[in-house]
Amino acid sequence: MEEFLEHFKERTRSEQRWLCEVFEGVRQQLYPLISSSVGLSVEQLTLSVLSKVQRAAGSEVASLPVSYRFVSLSELTRQQHTPCCSSLTWSSAQYREQARRALPNYRALARDNILLMGYLYDGPAAGASDGGWWVRDAGGAVSCRLVKSSPLWLGRLMLFPTWNYIPQNAPAGGGYLELIDPPVCVTPEAMTFDPGGSLTEAMSVKRAAELLKQRCDAQVCVSGQVSVISPLLLISGRRFFCLILSEGDSAAPVLITEGKHQYWRQCVCVGQYICISAMRVCSLRGWAGHHVLSVTAQSRLHPHVQTQESSEDPEKHLMDTDSHAPDTHMTSHTASCSTTSVRKKHSTLISYKGLITKVLHAEAGLYEIDGKVGLCLAYQPLQERGGGLRPGAEIQLHNVHFLYRPSPFAPDVVLCACLCSSAQVTAFSPLSSKVEVCGSHSPLQRHLLEKNLGVSQYLWLCYCQRVITERLCPRWVREERVCVVAGRLLDCVCDAEQKTDRKRDIYREMLQEPHQCPVTTYCVSWPCVVLWSVRHLCDWMSSEVWSSLSLSSLVSPAAAHMTCAELNACLSWSVHSVRLTAAHSQPLMLVGVLELSSTHATLQIKDQTQTLDCVCVQTDQSGATTNSNISTAWLGCLVCVQRCTLVMERLMKTNFPSWKHLDQPNYITHKHCRLYLQFCVSDLIIISPSAAMSISLMEKKRDQTDGREADQKRDRRDEGDDDPLRSACVSLVFRLNSKQGVMFRNTSVSADAHTLQMGFTATVSCLGDVQLWNNDPKNRRIQTSETDGRETTVRHLHYTVSLLYSGFYSASVCVLQMDLHFGDVCVRWFPLLHPGSVYRLIAHNTEDVSVLKAESISARGGVKLLSNPALLMKHQWRLHTLTHMEQLLDTQSDVGAVMSVSKVLHSSSTSEIVSFYGVISQRITLQEEMGTKPSIQSVTATKDSSVVEEGLKIRLTVQDSESAGHMIQVYVDLSCGPYTPGLLQGATVILQDFHRKVSKACNVYCRSLPISCVSVTGLGSVSSGSGGSQSPPPMMLLGEWASGRTQQCIVGQVKGHIVCVLSLRLQWMCSLCGSTFRQGSCSRGQPPCDSSCGVFQAEAK
Ligand SMILES: [Zn+2]
Ligand SMILES: [Zn+2]
Repeated sequence: MEEFLEHFKERTRSEQRWLCEVFEGVRQQLYPLISSSVGLSVEQLTLSVLSKVQRAAGSEVASLPVSYRFVSLSELTRQQHTPCCSSLTWSSAQYREQARRALPNYRALARDNILLMGYLYDGPAAGASDGGWWVRDAGGAVSCRLVKSSPLWLGRLMLFPTWNYIPQNAPAGGGYLELIDPPVCVTPEAMTFDPGGSLTEAMSVKRAAELLKQRCDAQVCVSGQVSVISPLLLISGRRFFCLILSEGDSAAPVLITEGKHQYWRQCVCVGQYICISAMRVCSLRGWAGHHVLSVTAQSRLHPHVQTQESSEDPEKHLMDTDSHAPDTHMTSHTASCSTTSVRKKHSTLISYKGLITKVLHAEAGLYEIDGKVGLCLAYQPLQERGGGLRPGAEIQLHNVHFLYRPSPFAPDVVLCACLCSSAQVTAFSPLSSKVEVCGSHSPLQRHLLEKNLGVSQYLWLCYCQRVITERLCPRWVREERVCVVAGRLLDCVCDAEQKTDRKRDIYREMLQEPHQCPVTTYCVSWPCVVLWSVRHLCDWMSSEVWSSLSLSSLVSPAAAHMTCAELNACLSWSVHSVRLTAAHSQPLMLVGVLELSSTHATLQIKDQTQTLDCVCVQTDQSGATTNSNISTAWLGCLVCVQRCTLVMERLMKTNFPSWKHLDQPNYITHKHCRLYLQFCVSDLIIISPSAAMSISLMEKKRDQTDGREADQKRDRRDEGDDDPLRSACVSLVFRLNSKQGVMFRNTSVSADAHTLQMGFTATVSCLGDVQLWNNDPKNRRIQTSETDGRETTVRHLHYTVSLLYSGFYSASVCVLQMDLHFGDVCVRWFPLLHPGSVYRLIAHNTEDVSVLKAESISARGGVKLLSNPALLMKHQWRLHTLTHMEQLLDTQSDVGAVMSVSKVLHSSSTSEIVSFYGVISQRITLQEEMGTKPSIQSVTATKDSSVVEEGLKIRLTVQDSESAGHMIQVYVDLSCGPYTPGLLQGATVILQDFHRKVSKACNVYCRSLPISCVSVTGLGSVSSGSGGSQSPPPMMLLGEWASGRTQQCIVGQVKGHIVCVLSLRLQWMCSLCGSTFRQGSCSRGQPPCDSSCGVFQAEAK
């Protein structure tokens, strides 16, 4: 050290201190790695370093760059957590100039003054070459990127004058260096470069190409221009890359498999003239019948020193995408696709140079160049550590596929790199950007490889992955599962025929002429299925419901003769239904999780953005019955819906004086809407099943395979890997006989406070005794012991194949009936309870079997009721539908008989309380009785701040589903419970426990009771407006019709002649009060009526 400082005696103290630091750094970090052949001492090395630093800094010999700290590589990676840049050569003005180049929304990299030196190697440690360049010193190694590099730099001590450091918080740690200025060799060349083989013997590509046609054992040295470079590939542990040397029409493919030559990938670029020595001719197993040149351990790469600029300037290939008119791409052939009109096109290979303006999706390898062109690098192995692909970097692309509109979810022009393309950063970005960490095995890219996706499909997959991450992750889809889910959705939108099963042949893709790879053809703007979030759908419906409103279309043509009250009643309710497919110009798909709403007592579909009510039915829109109700296993399932109806019900309060005022919206005093979806169980596609659904599917599969072996295997697994949190629970199996409608009930919270709570009661038949389990059985197959009523024993989860249910049948003879009360949040189970279905009720975390024992409850005041024993459902209890029981049970046995409309009309023996089914042919809102305030105010409705329909009463005309002429009027009071969606014209409904009445005119009608329940089981055809088409009643003969007294209620059409008119009255009436209307004003005097609207009415007898 003293010896070293001798040279700097005249320096200041601070300069000497700085010199000591540099000396120490060199001694500790750089000297240990120096080759002995160089023959330098520490002092000599430090002096050499100093002279290079001074020259690089451009400072006169007099001054030393003391503001620069010597930093070892390990210190750099440990201490530097934000991206930075350092330059010995830039002045402050130059740095500011760099910063000014910043793109909008980006800042320039922070500047730091660091002296960085190290040895350049092709791997992080000795003998660990990985094809990339690394800077090493005694304490560490950092990966680096260079714009241009030379094989002459390998193993030499370098000073790096200007560089960026981009830290990455990857688990592997560290970051990487972007070396902007070429590194400066500190030590003199140890020896002259040995090209290994005489360059004078180098043969032309033309000769080499001829040589490749026959076999030749000699080692050859070939020189030529690089036309294609593949990316560095790692396949089954072997790293290699290819390049093609060409000259005129001749081409010679070269395979670089030798580990120690992998770094050449960084030293060559397209258009460059190179010479490679000591190559052998060999055949490729993966590319039969073709010979390639393969480098050997003795091979040397020699960058050709071309005196004149290369005749074929690579830049000449570069084209501007603007000049690429879209219609030039329209001529390409359209592939015949039978089912969908998917247009396929051929892509063209181009070269392009541009500035990266945005990282669209780092994990997916998607970037934006020049603000408008998309770049897809997914078909290449992922650039490790980002590879300098940051916003602000200049990039040069060779042999990339030009795609015009491959996907609606990507820029119009997408350049897609494949295995014969090269993407090289030609200028590193001076900008600071968010550090994108991406592992080398992105799940998206893995999916691309495994499924051999086309580029259009891949771009859709990336869109889908982003959407799912936003809307469902992490609440319903774990981060690592997002891609799997996206892949399943891709399967939903792609037909089997659109998938390519062709295996990829990488050698052919890289080397064969003409070039053929998965990107050669692509689909134009397909798949184009748009995934709307639930919020987006709700927003669309909320605006559509009112924009589609046309008041004049809601009233019948007779509106001109309607009184004010009649007219406003017509407007009070209307519905607008749209198929999901019709909501958007592109096909739509809805993805969400099914859950239950405890405030609406409905099924809901939700994602992280919003929740939407659903009506799920058994019958689809074509009328075919699927015969399966929605079961509890659907709860928590991630589903995708492509076929469904968006229903928008409008509820309005209006006071239009007459039809002439319909164009004046100020007569609408109040309006709100009910938005929900209607779909059929069979239209739900499971993307990710719930635990219960998995069990259900597994058991169904087992039934089909019927293999004893499979059973045994599964049994063992069931016992092994079930819920990690085992906890005891008790269960009870029952069949639902009937359920009442949900209504608001009085409940006492405390001694003197009463509130209204939603609730309903279901009558069930217990099929056995309460069971104790050491693990939640969920919806697993019923066990004999659950139905045979013997004493309770602790059960383990295992199954016997020969379960014959013999015990079950004997037990079902003496079943116990009880009432199950659902109150408060438990009303959420309402939509999943179907009379006739079998359920398992589970109370968790208890071993007390008495919790599920029903008790005879005493009514208020101590009066004992003569009713079934009752059980109050607790909110933490769970219900599971046991679907496999349905075929084993005669579902009608205990379940109250459901009649047809005709039967209700005609049977004289029917009881007062009836249950029947039919199709709604008309829905009318009943006029509010003046002066009556709604008796019950909804408590829950105020809770979720939605509007409640106060005192909403409707009349449904329900026609027999078999004979359309039989109809019955049903009066339903919707004000005593949560709103019932789905009561639309054309819907099939089951009306349970309605009061059958006969009017004075001997007409049979029905009226709802507090216990009544309406369930929608089938969907009508989609039509808008309250009116609409319906099958006309049958043609009747008048004589035949009049004779049958019992047939009185049939609605029919008759043709006949009027033979006598008894009376005819024609008059102008006041639309408001019904008094005679004379000379433009109402004639009523007591009290006077100021109405100025008259309607003309006629009445004949
Ligand atoms: Zn290609
Ligand atoms: Zn009047």
